[in-house]
Amino acid sequence: KLSKRLKRVASFLPKGAVFADIGSDHAYLPCYVCKNDQTAKAIAGEVNEGPYRSAVETVKSHNLEDQIDVRLGNGLHVLYHQEARQVVIAGMGGSLIKSILNEGKDKLEITDQIIAQPNVDARAVRIWLITNGYTITDEDLVEENGHFYEIIKSEWNANPSTPATLDEQQLLFGPILLLKKPYAFYKKWKAEAKKLERVIQQMKQAKQSDQLKINQFLQEKKWIAEVTN
Ligand code: SAM
Repeated sequence: KLSKRLKRVASFLPKGAVFADIGSDHAYLPCYVCKNDQTAKAIAGEVNEGPYRSAVETVKSHNLEDQIDVRLGNGLHVLYHQEARQVVIAGMGGSLIKSILNEGKDKLEITDQIIAQPNVDARAVRIWLITNGYTITDEDLVEENGHFYEIIKSEWNANPSTPATLDEQQLLFGPILLLKKPYAFYKKWKAEAKKLERVIQQMKQAKQSDQLKINQFLQEKKWIAEVTN
């Protein structure tokens, strides 16, 4: 059974998606999508041999070879030009997602949607998206097994009248999450505030305390209090 997290990621894809799932591991996501939508097509990319073989196996066991192509390679380099209308990158750190997107920029010619699910540092992904012509159009926050997962959907801004900009709070919390503020949002950020408080106390006690970093964390704590009150 597919995790709640990946189900939510899948829900951000349109019907008839022609998408790449980069870092697909067992290819659970493309298999779920293609089972439920016979008009969908997917490329499952994996950089590691083990997960690549698992992906091939899963696709075979579901008889989905006609809909899903499993490829071994780094990031977006597994794609030919003008292949993927949607790109999904889930279950990795935000800075890795950002570098995969950045190194494979030239493969995004017809990609009108990028769906990212960074495990940490969603901010890095949001910055990359908005500085590369994508607008964040939807977000969600899923709690599963004690973890919080942010999902970001973005769309190519074919004709931007004004360049998309986000302020620091929108970059950290997510522009749409700030508007929607689902229940999990309060839970996540209240837990983050507690963590931050502990870190700040530890830093204050350290021999050489980094005042700049402490100030940054204090600022973040203040923002959290503002958005969760
Ligand atoms: N996307 C799945 C999910 O969300 O459940 C799997 C997440 S798994 C934690 C991350 C996967 O990304 C691993 O299987 C790893 O081999 C793969 N990966 C890491 N860096 C990659 C890269 N540069 N290109 C392709 N795959 C990568």
